[in-house]
Amino acid sequence: EQPSTTPHIAIVPSPGISHFTAFAEFAKRLVHRHSFSVTFVIPNDGSLSKAQQSLLGSLPPSIAHVLLPPVALDDLPAETTRIETIIALMMARSLPSLRNEVRRLQESTRLVALVVDLFGTDTFNLAEEFNVSPFLFLNGSAMCHSLFLYLPTLDKAVSCKYRDLPEPVKIPGCIPIHGRDLLEPVHDRQNDAYKWVLHHARRCRLAEGILLNSFEDLEPKVIEYLGREEPGKPPVYPIGPLVNMEQSSKSDGLECLKWLDKQPKCSVLYVSFGSGGTLSYDQMQELALGLEMSEHRFLWVVRTPNDIAAEATYFAGDSQNESVEFLPKGFLERTKGRGLVVPLWAPQAQVLAHSSTGGFLTHCGWNSTLESMLNGVPLIAWPLFAEQRMNAIMLTQDIKVALRPSADPESGLVGRDEIPRVVKRLMGGEEGKRIRNRMKELKDTAAKVLGEDGSSTRALSELALIWKAKLINQTH
Ligand code: UDP
Repeated sequence: EQPSTTPHIAIVPSPGISHFTAFAEFAKRLVHRHSFSVTFVIPNDGSLSKAQQSLLGSLPPSIAHVLLPPVALDDLPAETTRIETIIALMMARSLPSLRNEVRRLQESTRLVALVVDLFGTDTFNLAEEFNVSPFLFLNGSAMCHSLFLYLPTLDKAVSCKYRDLPEPVKIPGCIPIHGRDLLEPVHDRQNDAYKWVLHHARRCRLAEGILLNSFEDLEPKVIEYLGREEPGKPPVYPIGPLVNMEQSSKSDGLECLKWLDKQPKCSVLYVSFGSGGTLSYDQMQELALGLEMSEHRFLWVVRTPNDIAAEATYFAGDSQNESVEFLPKGFLERTKGRGLVVPLWAPQAQVLAHSSTGGFLTHCGWNSTLESMLNGVPLIAWPLFAEQRMNAIMLTQDIKVALRPSADPESGLVGRDEIPRVVKRLMGGEEGKRIRNRMKELKDTAAKVLGEDGSSTRALSELALIWKAKLINQTH
């Protein structure tokens, strides 16, 4: 049981290692800097990835975790159910057990707030019932949050598919963006995934505040817009960039770090599509042959190709089989020494921090984006699903720290010839240098905003004060 003066926060993450990581960093800061205690309450379907298990195992004593009873999801058609629907249903079906857990925490701790992510807004009713503050932590760009606030309006105003809109969509505070580049699940408006996203987008206005894993200097215009007081628009707290920088190395990651030690400074292109992203078989062949043709050094995390959906392995990205037989014949021999292929998982935090890493070909997941920024590593943007296309647009067109390979309009594939072109532009030449310098500036800014008097540190202190005041009010 917690001492009665320690304010307690319950965090409800949606599944997926990237959400866990950001929430864990947030929790560590609350505990270390503001003397809170925290419980992670985790909806799940009985399977946590190895990465999730090791993260939970590494948390300090004042951050507890409770796994809710696993929910069954075997009634969902495996081939056609989108990840957003899976996540939303996992959260929805966990509500009864979550309610029990919140009650237990309320009885045994000084619970002041419930912090959930986008798909957890149905818990706001519980927060009200138990008189704790409902907060949302959006582990994505501020642009993404602005879209969620705007989506209900867009949904009413537009009857066609968003991708057929002739004019770009003007998300408040953001650069105009073509309808086809919006968040993946909004494209099929008949699909359940869209209905879930819309449902939660409507409800995020009910939060008392929104925590953003972003920072003012990264997205000044949109954060300024989001901060303007308007009815039904909760205050925002930009507290990022929060990412894990000291991931404990697993034994299977050591080989690639040793290999990096032997490579020249800034010479290696790290290639990875996040915790679960995959390419189609044909795209995998093109990428492999393109990397080979580039004659650059590379470290590539590969996963079995999937022709149906890029996110097909999102929940099991680190536990598939390790075979790499899908790579082009002779590829490993021909690139030996210059390239290293790692099946399934690399210690990304350490790879990006390594001085031999000079570039990152990424699917633009938000954690990967921020991790690269904190290490000053410039990007090649290769978005696959979720909000990654929006991130890619922001990275290439707005803050200009990434290059984007072009895909063949007919096949949709990035061809083997395009890959050496874009790799060379990034890893050598003037354009690459400019991008690298811009990324270095962002690295310095990120360190500043997280420092003693930085804007993100202040935003978190403000929040901690609000929550502590809540505790005092509860007492009187
Ligand atoms: N990650 C890792 N090794 C890998 C792949 C991913 O450590 O081989 C980590 C990465 O450092 C990041 C997270 O998993 O923290 C992926 O999050 P992101 O938001 O980039 O993408 P998502 O997995 O949600 O698509």
